[in-house]
Parts: sequence; C-alpha cells; structure tokens
Amino acid sequence: MSLETLVEKLPGVAEPRLFTQQDFDGYVMTTYARFPLTLERGAGCRVWDTENREYLDFVAGIATCTLGYAHPAMVEAVTRQISKLHHVSNLYYVREQGELAKWLVEHSCADRAFFCNSGAEANEGAIKLARKYAHTVLNIRQPVIITAQASFHGRTLATITATGQPKYQKNFDPLMPGFVYVPYNDIEALEEMVAAVDSGERQLAAILLEPLQGEGGVRPGDVAYFQRVREICDEKGILLIMDEVQAGMGRTGHYWGYENLGIEPDIFTSAKGLGGGIPIGAMMCKSRCDVFQPGDHASTFGGNPFASGVALAVCQTLENEDILSNVRARGEQLRAGLSTIAQKFPDLIAEVRGWGLINGMELKPEVELTSPQVVKAAMDEGLLLVPAGPKVIRFVPPLIVSAEEVESALQALEKALVTLTK
Ligand SMILES: *Cc1c(COP(=O)(O)O)cnc(C)c1O
Repeated sequence: MSLETLVEKLPGVAEPRLFTQQDFDGYVMTTYARFPLTLERGAGCRVWDTENREYLDFVAGIATCTLGYAHPAMVEAVTRQISKLHHVSNLYYVREQGELAKWLVEHSCADRAFFCNSGAEANEGAIKLARKYAHTVLNIRQPVIITAQASFHGRTLATITATGQPKYQKNFDPLMPGFVYVPYNDIEALEEMVAAVDSGERQLAAILLEPLQGEGGVRPGDVAYFQRVREICDEKGILLIMDEVQAGMGRTGHYWGYENLGIEPDIFTSAKGLGGGIPIGAMMCKSRCDVFQPGDHASTFGGNPFASGVALAVCQTLENEDILSNVRARGEQLRAGLSTIAQKFPDLIAEVRGWGLINGMELKPEVELTSPQVVKAAMDEGLLLVPAGPKVIRFVPPLIVSAEEVESALQALEKALVTLTK
C-alpha cells in the first residue's frame, strides 16, 4: 500500500489526516522502543517536530549527523550527485569512490578502502578479511577473533556474535563460531585468553575492539591497555581490528579514535558519521593485510557516486573548516559543565567521561532512575539525548555545535534533573 493511500482525507477537511504514531506502529515492525516524537525538519544542531516544537539535538541521529542538518556542503553535494550520477554498480570505476578512498587513506593509518552501507556491514567485511588473512597468510584452519564484553559491532549474525552482550544474541542462536570474549581494558584477562586460545585446536587470528565503547556505556579505551594489545598482535603476527563506527570521523577530536590511544590498527571500520547521515560504511586496511581478490567480497550499493560524493564533502568540510578544533573545545566545555552538574547531584551521578564530542554521564547503580527516564525529562526541556545502556546518558551532538548550544544543553539537562528529583 502506498503512503498516499494511507493519508486519508477527513470528510469536509481539505488537509490530509496526519499520519499518527499509532498508524506507524500498525505498519512498521516493532524492533525499536521509540520515544513518542516525530521530527519533521532540522537546521544546524536544531530539529523541529510535527507540532513545530524546537529541540536542541545532542543525538545527531546517534553520532551520525556530523555536520548537523541542512549543512550547505551536504545540500550542495546531494544536489550535485543526484542530478549528475547517483548509482552505477561496481562493474565500473566510480570516481567519487576513488576520491573518498584517497581522502580516507591520506587522513588515516590505512592504505586501502572497501565501501559498503553500514557499520555492521563494514565489520562483516573486516571479519571476512581477517579470516581470509588467517587462512591464507597465517595458515590457520579454525581462526578465532577475540572481542570485548559490553562491545557493540552490529546486528547481523556475525556481528551480534562479535558483540559481547548476551542480550543481543538471545534467541538468535546458533551463533557464528570463532569468537571469544574478554573484559574491556583488562590486560591480564586478555593475556590469559590469548594463551588459552592458542593452546587449543583453534588459533588466534585477530583482536577486534572499539577505541571507546559507545553503546556499551561510553567507556574510553585505556592507553596502556591498547599499547599492550598492539604488542601482542605484533608478537603473534595477528591482526588488530578497530571498530571506529561510532568513535571515528572526528567525533573524539581526532579523525580516528585510535589516535587517542597512540597505536595504529591493521584494519578499521567506519560508518555512522562518515556520510553525515547518508548511509555509507567503509572497511580500511593496511596494504599488508589486503588479501581480497575479485569475487571475495562485494556490495551492490557500496561506494556509489551518491554516497561517496556526499561522504567526501563531509570529510573535506571537516578538514577545511577545522572542525576537529571545535570538537575538542566544545568537548571540554561540555565535560566541565557536566561535571559541575554532577557535583550538584552527588547522590544521582556517578561519573562523567568521554573524548571530544562523545561523552557519557553515568547514574549511580543504587538510584532507581534510569537513563531513558533522564532522556525523556530532557526531551520535555527541549533537549534530545540518547541512552547508552540503562544507566548512562550519552551526549553526541553534531560536530559543528556552538558554545552557546552547549551552554543551552547544560541548562536544559540541569532543569530536567531538578524536575526528576523534586
Ligand atoms: C552503530 C555501531 C555499529 C553498527 O552500525 P550499523 O550501521 O547500525 O550497522 C557497529 N559498531 C559500533 C561501534 C557502532 O556504534
């Protein structure tokens, strides 16, 4: 049934009946617990709902709308690509794809790129590349990848298996073989697991980690831990894969999350912020582990002229407008403000943490209040936030956010907390 036929006209009323949230729930599968809000338009870091109520957006489509809404560079790139060439398949050379790959290579530790459409798909590509590397270079028959507990790598079968959170795996077994889990930032546990895997029949192929665990509660990686992870990978000749889907593309104040840790991965993945809200994912690797040959991996939409052209415009804008400096300054301002709020609510807030413009505020475990309740109260104050688990409130505004907007967000949050604790 087309959307037009769904928008019925009420008798005697010229305006079509609004497509309500109840209508929506009747037609769309309920895979999401949605907040009761329908957004209609956006500009910069602000969005408006169907009642024309304005919100300051510290969600940015979950760390995705890098340049906010209706940014001139994106409007220009979208318009140019759709009127010139939007999709041709990978049967042919795609100039925009090549230019985007060049930008990414020149602004990261990687030498090559593969393009797809999402974070999960980028991680699937990374897992396939690591497995082929294990079989063809390391001569491993049953390769194992170590991932972290509380991680998040996507919702496909391989990536829910890689995701070290049973709640995402429940009822979807049998899961993919070849994954084991360790607690994040715990070097002893990792060394033990490395030894245990290698003493068995299976052998270690790679370690897959987020530089900062996003969905798992905004937990930054520990520098000493990641230095040791890198050493282990070098000693064993195995691959370090970093999932930069949420932390990459300037979000932490560096182009890539791994830069905060002083190490370089062999493979990394990007998606969320890469297209500024246009669906695109990338799997990047060093030339030494680029073992893919024609036919090994593919994606029909991957790196088409439209998505690549827009992503390139986002990348160039990040660079030309020195947005990373803004990310660092606004990030410090936001963390300082959140810490001040935390001091005003010492019984409620346990910790404020993050890098650049990915920050989390953790509620004390003993308080009844949950992060979705805080998010709802902030929404009533005109501020959009997103939970990262039941006790952490996440702040991931567009990277172009201004000092005034950070200040307004802090005021709205404080008001929400006052209301909640009354
Ligand atoms: C969101 C996310 C993914 C999954 O990305 P999708 O585009 O939803 O498939 C993977 N890894 C991390 C770290 C993420 O934050």
